[in-house]
Amino acid sequence: LKKQNSVLRNIIVGYFINGELNKIKKSLDKYNTYNDLSATFNLVNEYKKSLITNIDKIYQIDGYTKWREKEANDLSSLVQQRFRSLQNPINCNTAKKLICNINKGCGFGCQIHHLVYCFLVAYGTERTLILKSKGWRYQKEGWESVFLPLSDTCLSPNGKTHANWPSDESKQVIILPIVDNIYPKPIYQPPSVPADLAQRLSKMHGYPLVWWVGQVLKYLMRPNNNTKELLDNKRQKIKFSNPIVGVHIRRTDKVGTEAAFHDIEEYMIRVHQYFESLEKTPKIKRIFLASDDPKVITAAKQRYVEYEIIADIDIAQTASVSRRYSNLSLQGIIIDIYFLSRCDYLVCTFSSQVCRVAYELMQTHFPDAYNRFSSLDDIYYYGGQNPHPQIVTINHVPKREGEIELKINDEIEVYGNHWDGYSKGRNLRTGMIGLFPSFKIKNPVKAVVFPKYQHLRI
Ligand code: GDP
Repeated sequence: LKKQNSVLRNIIVGYFINGELNKIKKSLDKYNTYNDLSATFNLVNEYKKSLITNIDKIYQIDGYTKWREKEANDLSSLVQQRFRSLQNPINCNTAKKLICNINKGCGFGCQIHHLVYCFLVAYGTERTLILKSKGWRYQKEGWESVFLPLSDTCLSPNGKTHANWPSDESKQVIILPIVDNIYPKPIYQPPSVPADLAQRLSKMHGYPLVWWVGQVLKYLMRPNNNTKELLDNKRQKIKFSNPIVGVHIRRTDKVGTEAAFHDIEEYMIRVHQYFESLEKTPKIKRIFLASDDPKVITAAKQRYVEYEIIADIDIAQTASVSRRYSNLSLQGIIIDIYFLSRCDYLVCTFSSQVCRVAYELMQTHFPDAYNRFSSLDDIYYYGGQNPHPQIVTINHVPKREGEIELKINDEIEVYGNHWDGYSKGRNLRTGMIGLFPSFKIKNPVKAVVFPKYQHLRI
């Protein structure tokens, strides 16, 4: 029932109706008949809102709300306990270890994702993760200047025998290269989720992989006392309160190299749609806006006076590419990710690792927040992930130019979602590349056997 609800919600909110209506509108505009039909458009939008409200109500009254909350808490406690046990071996001198260096030559989000991959390999091989972070490009004192150490008892990289990945069981310490260069690829990296949790996760969450990555981030990104104080003070200063929409606008070095430019208006349309989809639009429409370009903040505040926009222009200034790798910029990105992840909804570009980290962390604040985003470009992915085709659930006969045929159980390598109801991809059976309705495929959970940490009882 829950799955059906979210699929339904996705079809309605998820751009299909809007996309199809816009196509009709465009062709009608040519003949100036749009005005005659605008009443119909408005009615369809009202109908859409009412359907969404009803679907959300089913969630509230289906009797599973309490169960979902409890299951999410239980699963989180279970994996956090496993992480603590892995990271605090009884004897650090004899413990099997995996060494990971944070200093990948990229930004904070990318480095954190690199660290998540290291942690997943550590969890999969039952080795305590030892993080090397002295000389970190953001903060030369290292990880512990902002976050808690990954272990209370075991931080030393020493051991009797050392070897590079993959090596074998006999070596006490194994050194992991950066994710881009690893060979053979570990089966534990995304999109794998532990088989012993997969079934429970699939019942509870719309996207188990994102939940799983979120749990690793929850462990890794535990703030130290200074960071806690920084975040608490900030929360009070900006009067952060829900409901609120998080908007992340990535500019500077990303635009034109790894992502296309998107005007603020494109983000604001999605914000507007989110507020409109709520049963009661709040009186104060609040936005938490983060960017690496201070001009974005000035422009947004000038152009969108009907919104209460919380944004820190100083943080955006230190985030801009010329001032990025500094202590201040590190504080700024930690603050921005923290508050983005605590919003009710995220509007951003998933091509940015900043937003993907916020989205992953968001899963730790709701039983299931997989639907609480709108990306202007990519679908969610994990950089360097193992191949992960999606599966066709409904046949499709091409109806327009550029569409491809789908047959139930075909595997599709998805290139991207056009966010108008259609996605582009390659059918691995036919080799054909083209468009198809996004709701006709599903993202299967890749359950892989990880250690079960059975000595831990909860
Ligand atoms: P990506 O390049 O957007 O995929 O993400 P990365 O995290 O790898 O690199 C971008 C870096 O730019 C971040 O880590 C920050 O240092 C900075 N940055 C980008 N957007 C923001 C933002 O909204 N706020 C702050 N404070 N910094 C940002």
